[in-house]
Amino acid sequence: MQRISHWVNNKVVAGTSGRTGKVFNPATGEQQAEVDLASTAEVDAVIAKSKAAFPEWRATGMSRRAEIMFRTRELLDANRKELATFLTLEHGKVPSDALGEIARGIENIEFACGIPALMKGGYSEQASGGVDVYSIRQPLGVVAGITPFNFPAMVPMWMFANAIMCGNTFILKPSEKDPSASMFIADLLRQAGLPDGVFNVLHGDKEAVDRLLVHPDIQSVSFVGSTPIAKYVYETGTKNGKRVQALGGAKNHMLVLPDADLDMAADAAVSAAYGSAGERCMAVSVVLAVDSIADALIEKLASRVPNIKVGPGTDPSAEMGPLISREHRDKVASYINNAAGEGATVVINGTDKAKDAGFFLNPSLIDNVKPGMKCYDEEIFGPVLTVMRVKSYAEGLKTINDNEFGNGTAIFTRDGGVARQFQYDVQVGMVGINVPIPVPVSYYSFGGWKASLFGDQHMYGPEGINFFTRGKVVTSRWPDPRTSAVDLGFPTNR
Ligand code: NAD
Repeated sequence: MQRISHWVNNKVVAGTSGRTGKVFNPATGEQQAEVDLASTAEVDAVIAKSKAAFPEWRATGMSRRAEIMFRTRELLDANRKELATFLTLEHGKVPSDALGEIARGIENIEFACGIPALMKGGYSEQASGGVDVYSIRQPLGVVAGITPFNFPAMVPMWMFANAIMCGNTFILKPSEKDPSASMFIADLLRQAGLPDGVFNVLHGDKEAVDRLLVHPDIQSVSFVGSTPIAKYVYETGTKNGKRVQALGGAKNHMLVLPDADLDMAADAAVSAAYGSAGERCMAVSVVLAVDSIADALIEKLASRVPNIKVGPGTDPSAEMGPLISREHRDKVASYINNAAGEGATVVINGTDKAKDAGFFLNPSLIDNVKPGMKCYDEEIFGPVLTVMRVKSYAEGLKTINDNEFGNGTAIFTRDGGVARQFQYDVQVGMVGINVPIPVPVSYYSFGGWKASLFGDQHMYGPEGINFFTRGKVVTSRWPDPRTSAVDLGFPTNR
């Protein structure tokens, strides 16, 4: 059985805890590897290595740091396909989806290459006679990232690119369900010239996370995962004096108004609901259809669903792969099987695929859902699109704003004035106008509102730079400088 171990000081390091987790191939249902799960003592040892690497890394010039990130970008670009195979093997997503994830992750690496411009402070000359005032941003120290199973390459890149470019050393605790992508990326960082200890990977479960949350040498924690754990990480981390950004779950609504192009809306909803088997925090899980077009829209949705080709990522014609685990597949199936009893209408039931050895479901479509039903109130995180019929734009907006989550949302309309009003009124962090999955580009920041994010800094982009640095303001007065020397060499930065 293949064993996946930790990555410390640019080397693979075998775990010593005696505890391991199972890594499955979701397309076959078979265990394909075991992953070491770190003990508290192993976490402490990695934190010590990260702490030791910090002073030299912090002192490394920004252009040198950027040079390493540029090389990382080239290596990731050259190895997209190989990295994608790990995602298909351990997560199950089909290659086109895996390559899309990697492409969006690389955008964060590209953003971080601009670190010399991103770390600029401000300068005020002559704040008073002979006195200048300026602001600088400095790294925090050792920072940690804890990531979910559904984006094993992209979400780590959301975090570590900015974290290490700002001069921090970074410990990644990836999902134990698909841990290989982070090991592959760690080796690319080594090849790019990243010094020992700047990026370490620690595999583990609750024991490792709990130690990271209380250890005095961890300065900040970035978390992406489900809402109950995000809340726990935020509360425990902040109680222990850490800066925390914790992104949680979602229930994303797509409001379709009567003037929308219904074919475009149906294509968008089907793509955004079933892509990656619905295991995306930005997946559309509820279509809000205004009454007058609801029947027509459901017909269009229902006609598209049977065309989706479900299969393993090794089959080039497959468009949707399996779910991450047997337990998760069964939980998703239970929402579909219970929906009729709650009063909803199951238009397409994809649970017959649950008989396969792999963790598959076919796409399901459920109409007439309402608040109070489990399939509406809870995050399903699977290939299930629900439809709620609403009387008006106002009722649709109220439904979205009454929901406990506020990650993403979208409106489909041709009316610019209504779209603008929606963007103004909706209580959600990321809004699409005729765009179903509005994941911000890397030079904006990613994050939801309400139960979808705990903390006040969103992830990556400018807020990522703020999160991984702290400000300092210097007030300075100098005597007249009289020193100078002749130097005919071309001035350099390094
Ligand atoms: P999860 O919360 O189960 O796990 C996330 C991380 O927390 C993993 O590294 C895991 O090892 C760790 N963890 C799990 N249980 C823990 C515990 N009891 N104590 C401490 N640590 C624990 O999430 P998941 O199932 O891996 O990912 C799916 C969830 O992530 C969904 O809810 C999805 O919406 C959410 N998600 C959110 C975003 C976002 O940006 N808001 C992005 C991707 C995924």
